[in-house]
Amino acid sequence: MKLIALLALLISFNSFANLHQAPPTLDLSRFTKGVFVDFISAKSLITYDVTKKLSAVETTIIFKQEEVGKPIFDLVVEPKNVVLNSMRTSISTQTVSMNGTSTVRFLDEVLGVGTHKMVITNLITKNLAWSTGSVKSAFWMSDLSDRRYLEQYLPTNLEYDQYKMDFEVKIIDAHYDHNLYTNGDIKELAKNHWSVSYPETFTASSLYFHLTKKGVFDEKRAVYTSIDGRKIPFIVYTSSRASRYLNSALEVVAELEKDYGPWPHSQVLIYGAGSGGMEYCGATITSSSALGHELTHSYFARGVMPAHGNSGWVDEAVASWRDGGYRGYNTYNLSRTKMAGHSVYQRTTDRAAYSKGMKFLGYLHKRFLAKESFKVFLKSFFERRKFKPFKTPEFQKAIEDFYNVSLSAEFDKYVYGKSGIDMRSSKNMVEENKYHPRLTEKELLNLL
Ligand SMILES: [Zn+2]
Repeated sequence: MKLIALLALLISFNSFANLHQAPPTLDLSRFTKGVFVDFISAKSLITYDVTKKLSAVETTIIFKQEEVGKPIFDLVVEPKNVVLNSMRTSISTQTVSMNGTSTVRFLDEVLGVGTHKMVITNLITKNLAWSTGSVKSAFWMSDLSDRRYLEQYLPTNLEYDQYKMDFEVKIIDAHYDHNLYTNGDIKELAKNHWSVSYPETFTASSLYFHLTKKGVFDEKRAVYTSIDGRKIPFIVYTSSRASRYLNSALEVVAELEKDYGPWPHSQVLIYGAGSGGMEYCGATITSSSALGHELTHSYFARGVMPAHGNSGWVDEAVASWRDGGYRGYNTYNLSRTKMAGHSVYQRTTDRAAYSKGMKFLGYLHKRFLAKESFKVFLKSFFERRKFKPFKTPEFQKAIEDFYNVSLSAEFDKYVYGKSGIDMRSSKNMVEENKYHPRLTEKELLNLL
């Protein structure tokens, strides 16, 4: 029995080994390589000390390395302490530019092929606010700026990697009860003390986390029966009217299930913040007008997941295509872009996705409409690629196989930028989507 359990565990780990989707190895010096690794698990103990106004995290990461070199991961802040393979002394880390496109952190120690353990301690400093006897903390993220996923708060890997995360969250010396809104399996161990277990399909961009004083928000819950029979909890909290968000969420999820199949997550968690739209797995911070857009991202973005920045355009194109009522477009509506033609180290989504990417999908829709709506292809892509991070060439090949055509000329021109790109026209200066405004640090803090 034990052996079967162990085998099952190994198989499940292997199915999330995505090292083949990692960027190319970096040359740190003439003789030293920076190697991308495969995280197996990460356990974080997160403490908030209300008296000291200090939040510290200790994360134990088990990872596999398939090449000799210094292991790459990411954490934006400088770690306080790093211990490797139970050695006594702390190991330093450094950051390095990836061809000028992005930055990552690496352990300053050459490691061999095999499984390793590192324990990293760091402070949380972003999107954190202290009051007398209470704390507010959120792991807000963005796919439009570099290094804005989980690495802002905890040590994590790049988006290609999926691994099991477990948290223990503890508030020390609080005078009030707190609520933890998060998209994992949460257990209250004691007052202001929780454990949370997240699915092993999660990546650096999956996790929603918002800790706040109890009673601050209007909260509504409901249970929705999915088309596959599962009972799915809906949790809505907001400082405006929760029922308004809840009613439209129930409607939108029913619509999405009809088009793309059963809701892929174990809950629907909505923070009706009035702005700040961002998607997470089965969760969102949103305004009421962006709610449909953000919930669509639970299928495309956080269901079908981009492996890196060059595939991020697909989910914004799909969500925006839905926003516009799934319209068809002609070639003369299209623009040449390089949405998927950036560096292999790109980690952010090209903003051309909202309008130009959306029109490209609308063009494919119109082109194959005699057969059926492009939504039918998207549904099949979702079913096959759910929770398996993908790159744009795989998306292209899936469309080509589905319709039995070659689309190299179209992808080269409109997606990979192989014949140059069309500059923004004056009436289309704003590539920013109204659902994903770029917020300042202060605005993000105000959403706590
Ligand atoms: Zn979006």
